[in-house]
Amino acid sequence: MCGVVGIFGHPEASTLAYLSLYALQHRGQESAGIVTTDGDTLIRHAGMGLVADVFSRDVLSALPGNAAIGHVRYSTAGDSHRSNAQPFLLRHHRGPIAIAHNGNLVNAALIREELEAGGSIFQTTSDTEVVLHLAARTPVADIVDALAESLRHLRGAYSLVAVVPGRLIAARDPLGFRPLSVGRVDGAWVIASESCAFDLLGAEYVRDVERGEVVVADVGGLHSFKPFEDDRPAPCLFEHVYFARPDSRVFGESVQAVRKRLGAQLWEEQPADAEVVTPVPDSGMYAAMGYAHAAGLPFEMGLVRNHYIGRTFIEPSQQIRNFGVRIKLNPVREILAGRRVALIDDSIVRGTTSRKIVQLCRDAGAKEVHVRVSSPPTRGSCRYGIDTPVAEELVAARHGVEEIRSFLGADSLGYLSMEGMLRAAQKEGDDVCSACWSNEQPVKLPRADTRQLGLFDKTVR
Ligand code: AMP
Repeated sequence: MCGVVGIFGHPEASTLAYLSLYALQHRGQESAGIVTTDGDTLIRHAGMGLVADVFSRDVLSALPGNAAIGHVRYSTAGDSHRSNAQPFLLRHHRGPIAIAHNGNLVNAALIREELEAGGSIFQTTSDTEVVLHLAARTPVADIVDALAESLRHLRGAYSLVAVVPGRLIAARDPLGFRPLSVGRVDGAWVIASESCAFDLLGAEYVRDVERGEVVVADVGGLHSFKPFEDDRPAPCLFEHVYFARPDSRVFGESVQAVRKRLGAQLWEEQPADAEVVTPVPDSGMYAAMGYAHAAGLPFEMGLVRNHYIGRTFIEPSQQIRNFGVRIKLNPVREILAGRRVALIDDSIVRGTTSRKIVQLCRDAGAKEVHVRVSSPPTRGSCRYGIDTPVAEELVAARHGVEEIRSFLGADSLGYLSMEGMLRAAQKEGDDVCSACWSNEQPVKLPRADTRQLGLFDKTVR
């Protein structure tokens, strides 16, 4: 996953980009970067770590200009390495260009092989660099046309921003997997992955970048293009279930409201014989509120999360049981002891963390632990930009609900049904991407191998 932001027409563009990246930090903690332009050149600063680690007052003041793009990264394609920190900046025959991408391009590896066979030299292992190589080779004069033409060859998910001297460009793939919204502050344009960035800047939400739309901000205003063939919508449901910030509006819906509806639906389908409802913080918070409200049960923070752990260098030893999870979550004995607890989380991935959390609750004296999950069993690995492990590592890909319950050591386990999730999260009649639960892939590849879709292959989709 990643978060992106673009600013156009503000004298403090780098500061606005920096603040936006703070708001989008949950979308990626591996690296952060900003590129600005003063109308002539592009200037870049990027590094490994959190936004607060990468940027200082001095660094920001060395990023002048009235347009900027920024990125926070959580790698899904390419290694976790400094050279893969975005935005990417390069100079080609049309001048300098920088790009920042959220999503995952399913046919990038094959296109890259073809380009490398033709002599292209890549600087990074990221799929995003392919976009720039294709644009550089496209024989049209204008960079916006060249970007649109190169994106036509790429399949998968992209919500991206790019900057060239005098213009900010944003594009969203025709299926609209990842969110991307347009806002306005002090007469400047802001484009960001999530609306929570607008709130921090005091910007007003204007609209979403539509799926299949390219928008360009320049001194003449905001221009819209629809250069791609239309496709059916496939907004990622996992954004609502887990990934986006609850205070954002994503795909036209309040994230916290969707999560509460998922929780209420979960109670309808999977009521637990419990005295208290407790979330796994932070991911299960709003679903637990919805569950408790629908059930008429007390909502209590039976687990408290430490938000300041960063990365620890201490290896957990056999003697310190559950160290890894204890450093992050502490059970509140006064809430849990002697009670029947409904423990709510949004998803179970490998099951290893959930198992430790159930044990934490038992250690704190919980009489019974009933695990409830506000989405169906996670069975498919995401090809469109969510960092999920390969399918074999997903506990639900290999085991049934009763086996998972026994592995977790829970008294009962209940997942939300697919129909229930769609009812609670989907706008009427809209298609969504639910591949991590259903394994139904919205981007059809001719063969199972995701690399089998090349630049010169005309049989796409
Ligand atoms: P586990 O029990 O080890 O499968 O971990 C489950 C926890 O991982 C839940 O709290 C989820 O909210 C969280 N989670 C779900 N998807 C992801 C993801 N892509 N990256 C990191 N954590 C996730």
